[in-house]
Amino acid sequence: MLEEQIAEEQDLTNNKSSMITEEVSANIETNLALKDKIRQELDKQWFLDFQFLFSKEVIWVSVEMFDELLEEEKSRFDDIISLDKESVNFADIISESKLDVFYGLMSHLNNVLNSEETQSNISVCKPKIIELSDYMGLNRDYYDRLVFLRKNTKLTKDQTRVLDRAIENMEIRWVHLEGKEKSKLEEINKELSILSEQYKQNLLDEQKSYSYYFETDEVIKDLPKDVLENAKKKAEDKWKTWWEFGADSASTISIMKYCNDEEIRKDVIDQNMLFATSWELDNRPIILKLIELRQEKAKLLGYKNYAELSLVKKMAETPEEVIDLLKEVGEKAELKMEAEMLEIRDYFDIDELNYYNLAFYTRKLKEEKYDLDDKLLKEYFQYDKVVSYMFDLANKLFGINMKQLDISTYHPDAKVYEVSRNGKKIAHYILDPFYRETKRSGAWANILRPQIANNDDRVPVTVNVSSVLKSTDGPTLLTFNSMKTLFHEFGHVLHFMLYEGNYQELNSMRLEWDAIELPSQLMENWLKEEAVLLDIWEHYKTWEKIPMELIEKKHKLDNFNAGFVEVRQTQLAMMDMELYTNNPPSSVDELDQKVIDINNNLGSIIRDIETYKMHAQFSHIFAGGYSAGYYSYLRSRLLDADVYSVFQKEWIFNPETGKRFVDTLLWQWIRKKARDMFVDFMGRDLDPEVYYRKKGFIK
Ligand SMILES: [Zn+2]
Repeated sequence: MLEEQIAEEQDLTNNKSSMITEEVSANIETNLALKDKIRQELDKQWFLDFQFLFSKEVIWVSVEMFDELLEEEKSRFDDIISLDKESVNFADIISESKLDVFYGLMSHLNNVLNSEETQSNISVCKPKIIELSDYMGLNRDYYDRLVFLRKNTKLTKDQTRVLDRAIENMEIRWVHLEGKEKSKLEEINKELSILSEQYKQNLLDEQKSYSYYFETDEVIKDLPKDVLENAKKKAEDKWKTWWEFGADSASTISIMKYCNDEEIRKDVIDQNMLFATSWELDNRPIILKLIELRQEKAKLLGYKNYAELSLVKKMAETPEEVIDLLKEVGEKAELKMEAEMLEIRDYFDIDELNYYNLAFYTRKLKEEKYDLDDKLLKEYFQYDKVVSYMFDLANKLFGINMKQLDISTYHPDAKVYEVSRNGKKIAHYILDPFYRETKRSGAWANILRPQIANNDDRVPVTVNVSSVLKSTDGPTLLTFNSMKTLFHEFGHVLHFMLYEGNYQELNSMRLEWDAIELPSQLMENWLKEEAVLLDIWEHYKTWEKIPMELIEKKHKLDNFNAGFVEVRQTQLAMMDMELYTNNPPSSVDELDQKVIDINNNLGSIIRDIETYKMHAQFSHIFAGGYSAGYYSYLRSRLLDADVYSVFQKEWIFNPETGKRFVDTLLWQWIRKKARDMFVDFMGRDLDPEVYYRKKGFIK
């Protein structure tokens, strides 16, 4: 998924922030000058002066600056709602928010050069942003003005779309409700947020208190070295000479894959599956309540169930459509899963394969039958060459030119590029690829400053961040996966940069969830092509091309275990969609049984397992933003496979196909529904068969 742009901030004590405020107010005059300069920067046409914007002085006045901009934003809004309906113009509702840009910069700084000060600033400002957004987003007077404008003004197509989206956004919150119903909804929202927090907290508490000890390394000696060292250290910290494993996924997965005692593997996975299911930490009563409240909320807002409400922001039209799709994908994937299981049973001559020895044998099969050494492959992927190929590809396909500029940013590793297309400058791009201690982990794409209406000179400032480990001697090398991540995030940035219209409100980040990942996943495809693997890469020492044998091994592994993985994902997505579509289960037992039934209908490995209580730890759909939306990951994979098949048919480097993709999809942002754009490019609706073939589910 496109990474959340607002990182989760740790709470800092209030002391800290008041200390900063005091220091700040001691220098009122300097502050005035500083704030003036910040405003100039925010108004500037050209690239931003990050050395200034991220300087110590600016960090000190950030909260004060933020508060000023917030007040201005609020009074601008109050001005609009104090006008007569007839006097509100379209221009009033789209003017750029300096507050958003400034807060975006503060967040970026906090994510890439984290310090106590940046963190404290964010924890002070974030609640204020949320409060303002609620104030504006739920204002009935504002809503009435939008609706009036929409009905009584002659608007362009894009302007209509901007208004329709704004109106829809207010409607799916609670703008229509009044009096008792409104306070009921407020109550539900409050309760939902408390319960979600409690759900996450229970799981966290359970995981924190969990440990698994080994007194000797006899059965765990095959585990990856770093995991073992960690376990040893963890035990030593408690004055023990053993190995101690926690509930983190690296530990659990390593034990499941490498521990050669079947009983222990069963014990570990059973304990893991039972997290947050007992006594005061039991999450299942919370699930019942969460589902019930979400259904109630949906009904208040005029929907049949919560799934319907959730799908307003997604490509599928009805929950039934999603359930049918999941059934179909599940069935297709199961055939491949059966073949995968058979291969393991045959190869190791075992009768039965079950949930606690699957990971173990899958790993062994991968090593013994398809031995591919990731470290060997890595020697062909030099970071510099990968980036320059990425830019070449964008040039070939989409006519994009990347020119590196000799200007400084906030860190020597973060390089700036000027991006142009057909001779016209379209964006600035910052690539900040390497790991640093002060950087948040993971990889993401973002827009640091958007373009504004009718101003061609002020192009957007876009950014890609990742955490590749920089080599201290010799060139930096990438694993195939980190190369894929780089291409993936660049795909998001391409989507940000390519837009021919005027309105930031139609930004690609607001696309239906299923389609947001289309351009990013699409970019990954070229890397797997033989033409690319064979022609582009050279060994960093010998300059030799990748040997065919290595490529063949890699291809064999492309769909390794794909059937099993898909079946698991389908089970999870089905659980999510069914629980939010049908009547909520009325007891914990009924909930457990329902989840087992859903699994039984879709798979043969995770079947009738007493200890299967994964719903108690599926924060994504119960405590996170993915409720009744987990399926969108799958849908975006289907879209990507289908679109890429067109490139394959018309030649993978065909600039005509690339141009058509830009014209019908990337360029459009959210000017149309994702489904319509998809049809514009494909000339037809989605064909899931293409994905099934790609994954090897059908021939
Ligand atoms: Zn993504």
